[in-house]
Amino acid sequence: MAEALRAPRGTLDVLPEDGRRRLGLLRIADEVAARGGYGPIETPIFESTALFARGVGDTTDIVEKEMFTFEDQGGRSITLRPEGTAGVCRAYVERGMHKLPQPVKLWYWGPFFRYEAPQAGRFRQFTQVGVEAIGSADPSLDAESILLLAEMLDRIGARGVRLRISSLGTPRTRRAYSDELREHLRGREDLLSDDVRARIERNPLRAFDSDHPGTQAALAGAPQLIDRLDAEDAEHFERVRELLDAAGQPYEVDGTLVRGLDYYSRTVFEFESTELGAQSALGGGGRYDGLVEQLGGPPAPGVGWAAGVERMLLAAAPGAEDGAAPRVVYVATAEDADAVQAFGIARELRLRGMHAEVEQAGRSLKGQLKHADRLGAEYVVILGEGPVQVKDMSTGEQRETGSAAEAIELVAAGGA
Ligand code: AMP
Repeated sequence: MAEALRAPRGTLDVLPEDGRRRLGLLRIADEVAARGGYGPIETPIFESTALFARGVGDTTDIVEKEMFTFEDQGGRSITLRPEGTAGVCRAYVERGMHKLPQPVKLWYWGPFFRYEAPQAGRFRQFTQVGVEAIGSADPSLDAESILLLAEMLDRIGARGVRLRISSLGTPRTRRAYSDELREHLRGREDLLSDDVRARIERNPLRAFDSDHPGTQAALAGAPQLIDRLDAEDAEHFERVRELLDAAGQPYEVDGTLVRGLDYYSRTVFEFESTELGAQSALGGGGRYDGLVEQLGGPPAPGVGWAAGVERMLLAAAPGAEDGAAPRVVYVATAEDADAVQAFGIARELRLRGMHAEVEQAGRSLKGQLKHADRLGAEYVVILGEGPVQVKDMSTGEQRETGSAAEAIELVAAGGA
């Protein structure tokens, strides 16, 4: 195929086998979210660029270098959404959800876009599933949120799962701590990566995100935010931990955990899988108590997470997300069979909840039986060889029936 026609780098075509696994995960997500009282929400795939600059933070990697931004024909700056929380919070304000009983609990699923270097598990278009609970600072929402993701990962049989949690405190604590950390980093400036050095002034916490060896060496012995929480934040975090403990959810407290987005406060968390290699993060999130207000809404604390669908499936046990598969029946037609009748039988079988297919590529009867086997058919209805026959593919036994209607009853009843 001509180079110019190929799919853009870092994008993915989902073929049917993966498509089925994704739908299985979608069903699990819906079920787990609904049981927690979270309703589905869809927001636009493109938003005004200002939303992300304001909502995600303009010193973040995402806003500084990873957004797909363009001007529309009307001269407005538009961005393909790089994450979901800003759009959901915008909708919360714009659609008056703050007037509903609080907290408002929402979940979403869809495509997201980041201009990152593509590699295994990292794409430029990827899919996230996420939840948000907006309108309450109650620590039970933090614990509930974490447990929802834990449950989804458990349901898909994700392997090697590890949960790290921390607390970032409030913006005030964070400012005081940032001064302290800045001081520490300035004393070791020659060790730092250019990136981190350039951001000491604006966002020193980002140093913790860096895997640059010098930066990591500079961080050894650095003060940690988790040791600087004020009494209220510490108590909030204690409560979250108590609820996780009571639920039997294992976790590690990791004071170096800072998330890549500026809007977080208090609880932050990340699930990773040891099965995933370099891109080990399955999903993560935290509390964002100032975000809604920052977007022009009323004070409305929130907490939520997003998880990568492609990565969840990479970590999942094969087949765990499959639902019960319907019975497969193939309607085979010998040379002089009535194709209209075959089509009608297949349609009737589908109406009764079975997966039914007819011959559509001109194969011989022998070829059709082989194809039926490939499809995993339990039964083959055979037309055009005398009376209507039903072949049980597991035993090889073939039975004559009196009519098409009788054949349909027979396969619907499972051959009894
Ligand atoms: P984040 O919003 O960066 O916390 O991302 C949440 C989750 O989305 C991550 O833990 C990944 O599983 C997934 N994710 C983020 N960026 C990408 C990407 N470029 N490609 C694939 N998955 C991603």
